[in-house]
Amino acid sequence: MAGSHRPTLAVWKFASCDGCQLSLLDCEDELLMLADRLEIAQFLEATSARVEGPYDISIVEGSITTAHDAERIREVRASSRVLITIGACATAGGIQALRNFGDVEDFTAIVYASPEYISTLASSTPISAHVPVDFELNGCPINKAQLLEVIAAHLAGRRPHVRAHSVCVECKRRGTVCVTVAHGTPCLGPVTHAGCGAICPAYNRGCYGCYGPMEAPNTSSLSARMSELGSGEADIVRIYRTFTADAGPFRQASERAAAGERAAGEGAGERGT
Ligand code: SF4
Ligand code: SF4
Repeated sequence: MAGSHRPTLAVWKFASCDGCQLSLLDCEDELLMLADRLEIAQFLEATSARVEGPYDISIVEGSITTAHDAERIREVRASSRVLITIGACATAGGIQALRNFGDVEDFTAIVYASPEYISTLASSTPISAHVPVDFELNGCPINKAQLLEVIAAHLAGRRPHVRAHSVCVECKRRGTVCVTVAHGTPCLGPVTHAGCGAICPAYNRGCYGCYGPMEAPNTSSLSARMSELGSGEADIVRIYRTFTADAGPFRQASERAAAGERAAGEGAGERGT
């Protein structure tokens, strides 16, 4: 137990916006209960106090975008008994993984006045691409109740109850009228991991997949339905390429749509239209 009668918890940040760590801070009352059961050994967003590792549980937010961070995550893994990644950045590369579809030097040249000072990797990758991960919690940001469940489960030595079904199931549970069926609105709910409580359809808009792919998503069928409802290939590429653009099934679905868009463009070119 890392030199303490309570298990130690460390929270680490990599390339991210801090929103998932804020979800942990937002636990407020539950955080006090957690502090009773765990020693918070490292959590810079909450306190500058630090306890040296090794740690019983490490929670990691953010993706790997620099050579230094690729090195740092190996050190974090080596000093952690259990490593849990939280949020779209840590589990799928995040919105910054949009660079994986282009040339990162094109982006740095546009964004920075002196891009020669920028030292960054060509891609943004999830933590699991670098080290073994014990549990991945989806979301952008994560759901704090799910995070508490994951921590409690690891403390109790049991599997966390985090269902991998779709956002559609959550719509049905809260009695939301389906925006696709009722209005023909494109919605990634059928292929997106549950956890948010189906917030967007409850406000009459489609889901854009911020919780990432569910288990075994049928993206081909959903893309075909979006086409039937009037979405062009470019629209379909865009809907899959948001917060979890590089998550396997979403990347493949967007690449299929992009290939369709290119083929249509070449066909139009050959016909001279
Ligand atoms: S609104 Fe979207 S998430 Fe909800 S049931 Fe319809 S397709 Fe599924
Ligand atoms: S985009 Fe989808 S997964 Fe994200 S909050 Fe909205 S409904 Fe939930």
